[in-house]
Amino acid sequence: MENRYDVAVIGGGPGGYEAAIRCAQYGLKTALIEMDKLGGTCLNRGCIPTKALLHGAELYQEAKNAASFGVNVGDVTYDYAKIAAHKDKVVSRLVGGVGALEKANGVDVINGFGKLDDANTVDVNGQKIKAENIILAMGSTPSRPPIPGLDGKNVMTSDDILALKEIPDSFVIIGGGVIGMEFATVFGTLGKKVTVIEMLPFVIPGIEEEIRSALVKNMKKIGVNIITSAKVTSIEGGDTVKVNYELDGKPQTAEGACCVVSVGRSPMTANCGLEEVGVKFAERNGRPTRYIQIDDCCQTNIKNIYAIGDITPKIQLAHVASAQGMVAAANCAKRTATMNYDVVPACLYTSPEIAYVGLSEEKAKEAGYEVETGSFNVANNGKAMVMGENQGIVKIITQKTTGKILGAQMYAPRATDMIGEVAVIMKKGGTFEDIANTIHPHPTVSETLMEAAHDVEGMSTNAMPKK
Ligand SMILES: Cc1cc2nc3c(=O)[nH]c(=O)nc-3n(C[C@H](O)[C@H](O)[C@H](O)COP(=O)(O)OP(=O)(O)OC[C@H]3O[C@@H](n4cnc5c(N)ncnc54)[C@H](O)[C@@H]3O)c2cc1C
Repeated sequence: MENRYDVAVIGGGPGGYEAAIRCAQYGLKTALIEMDKLGGTCLNRGCIPTKALLHGAELYQEAKNAASFGVNVGDVTYDYAKIAAHKDKVVSRLVGGVGALEKANGVDVINGFGKLDDANTVDVNGQKIKAENIILAMGSTPSRPPIPGLDGKNVMTSDDILALKEIPDSFVIIGGGVIGMEFATVFGTLGKKVTVIEMLPFVIPGIEEEIRSALVKNMKKIGVNIITSAKVTSIEGGDTVKVNYELDGKPQTAEGACCVVSVGRSPMTANCGLEEVGVKFAERNGRPTRYIQIDDCCQTNIKNIYAIGDITPKIQLAHVASAQGMVAAANCAKRTATMNYDVVPACLYTSPEIAYVGLSEEKAKEAGYEVETGSFNVANNGKAMVMGENQGIVKIITQKTTGKILGAQMYAPRATDMIGEVAVIMKKGGTFEDIANTIHPHPTVSETLMEAAHDVEGMSTNAMPKK
C-alpha cells in the first residue's frame, strides 16, 4: 500500500507530535509515524513522570512540615505504589490527549518503525509512505557508557527507575546532571539514602556557583551525598550494588540497593536508513557523532528532510524540540522560519526550584560584556515567607552600557514558572528597566524578579541598603 503526504514526521515526542499538528494547521496533509506511545520520552519516560514523582515527594515533605503552619496531620507516611500510580494516570491522560489532538487536526498517526527508503519515502513495517517533506524526530535513549558491570543486577537507567512500583532504601546515582539531581531530590525527600557520583568538579553545569553551593548544601540536608571529580571505574551488580570509583587517584566504593546510571542521552538514529539516503551527521570536536547536522531552519543537508529535537546537536530539552518542530513545520509550509538558541530557559525541579536563561555572570564576562547585576534574597519576599520558604536568590545579569538583560539565574520557589518572564523580555531585547518598571502582583514570588531588577541600580526598596 502506498500513501502520499505533504509531510511525514518520524517520531511522536514533543518535537514530532507538535510539528505534525503545526503542519496540519498550515493545511499540509501530514502523517505522524510512532513506533511506541505518542508523547515520546517527555510524556512517557521523562519530563512528566519525573515531575509527578517530584510532586508526590514535595507533598510528603509539606505534610511533614504542616504542623509548623498549624495544620495537624498526624503521622505522615507515603505509599510509593500510589505515587507511581498517580504518575501513570497523568501520563496516560496526556498521551491520550496527544492522540486526540492529532486526530482532531487531521493528522494520520501510523504505528510502526519508520525507516527512510529514499528522500521521499518512509517505510513503516512494509507500508510505503510518500512525502514531499520529511521531519525526523526520533529522540533519544539513555546513554550506556563503557563501564564494566553496566548490565548487573539492580543497575538501572531512568527508564527502569520510572517503571518501578516500589523503591529500595538506598541509591547510588551516577551523573550529577539535571536528571540525576531530580531523581536524587525525589528519593532524598522520600527519606532514602542517596549518593551522587559526578565526574566533573561540579554538578549542573550552567548554574552559578552561589546557587550550586546552596543546592549541594540543601541536598545534604535531605540525605543526598554528592561526590564530584570522581570517575566510576566499574559496577558490581547485586542485592547491594557496589559502584567503584576513583577520587584523588584513590579507589573508593559507594554502595546502594540500586544504581541509577544517568550520564546523558544518545540519539536514536540507528537503522533508520539515514546513511543510505545520505543524511549528514554532525561532528563534535572534529569527531563524528550520531547527531544529525541541521542549519538554523532545522534543515538537514538534504533539502526536503528536516531534523528536530534530541537527535540534533543542540539542547536536549522538550521545549527546544517543540520550538524546532514549529520551525521545521513552517519551512515545510514554505514560510521561512529560523531557530535562535540564545534564549532557552532551563529548569531543575529541586527544592527550591532552579531556573536560568541566557548567560550567567561568568559566561557574560567571558563573552566580553561589561556586566552589571541585580539580585534579591528570596527570604525577604512576603509570599515566600508565607510558604515557609526562607532561602534562595533571584539574579539578573545585564549589559552595563545598555541595561539589556543578558541572563537570569533563580533558586527560588516557583522559579520554573518565573523564568518565562525573563525569556520574553530577553527575546524582545529588553532591559532590566522593563522588568523593574512593570507592576508585579503582590504578594507573589515574582516580585523577587522585580526587586532584583531594581537592585541593578541599587534601588530595591525591600532589601537592606548595600554598604
Ligand atoms: C528523566 C528525564 C527527565 C526529563 N525532564 C525534562 C524536563 O523537565 N524538561 C525538559 O524540557 N526536558 C526534559 N527531559 C528531556 C526531554 O524528555 C527530551 O528533550 C524530549 O523528550 C525530546 O523530544 P524529542 O521529540 O526529540 O524526542 P523523544 O521525546 O525522545 O521522542 C521521540 C519519539 O520517536 C519515537 N521513535 C524513535 N525512532 C523511531 C522510528 N524509527 N520510527 C518511529 N518512531 C520512532 C520514539 O518511540 C519516541 O516516542 C527529560 C528527559 C528525561 C529522560
